Order: sequence, then C-alpha cells, then structure tokens
Amino acid sequence: MKVGIIRCQQTEDYCPGTTDFRMVREKQGVFEGIEEEIEIIGFINCGGCPAKKAVLRARELVKRGADTIAFASCIQKGTPIGYPCPFARKMKALIAKDLGEDIKLLDYTH
Ligand code: SF4
Repeated sequence: MKVGIIRCQQTEDYCPGTTDFRMVREKQGVFEGIEEEIEIIGFINCGGCPAKKAVLRARELVKRGADTIAFASCIQKGTPIGYPCPFARKMKALIAKDLGEDIKLLDYTH
C-alpha cells in the first residue's frame, strides 16, 4: 500500500502526527491486518478551512504514487481535542469524486 495522509491544518499546533506514523510502522489502527508493505508517500494538511484545497493535495499525493488516501484522525474524530472537522464529509466527497474508485479512502488512522 502506498498511502498519502491528509491531516487537519488547525490541529498541527497540537499534534505532529506521531501516532499516525506509528500506526503505519506497526500496522495498527486502520492499517491492522494489511499484509503488504506500507509506504508513506506524503503527509500534508488539508490546506485550511473550509478544505477546498484538500482535493488538490489529494491529487498531488496520487500523482506521486499514492493508491490510498488516509484522513488523519484529527479530521473525522477530532483527535486529540475532540473537535471533528465540520467540513469532513464534503472534503471526502470532493476527493472521492475527483480521484475515482481506483483510489482507496480511509476515514481515520487510529
Ligand atoms: S477544513 Fe477541517 S480539517 Fe481542514 S483545517 Fe479546517 S477543521 Fe481542519
């Protein structure tokens, strides 16, 4: 799996993404049970509210080899401060429409 991770720009001040990297490295969280090697293609924020730039960033990750886009847990779960992204559903819909069915989308990392 070649994964590009998109995280919440607003959460960067709270979190450098340590757990996301550990989840990939140790194949835990959403990556549990994946047999193949997992390579991180990129780790990028959404571009800021209201996430209109996220689709361009997802596109760039795919251009650089990602076959999977994972939304970091700060987006849909609001980790670590319990504040989910109000634009998460729209962001995912835009990215899904833009990238098509060949690219797998993961709703969270852990
Ligand atoms: S759009 Fe959502 S994910 Fe992006 S910075 Fe704003 S709250 Fe965070």
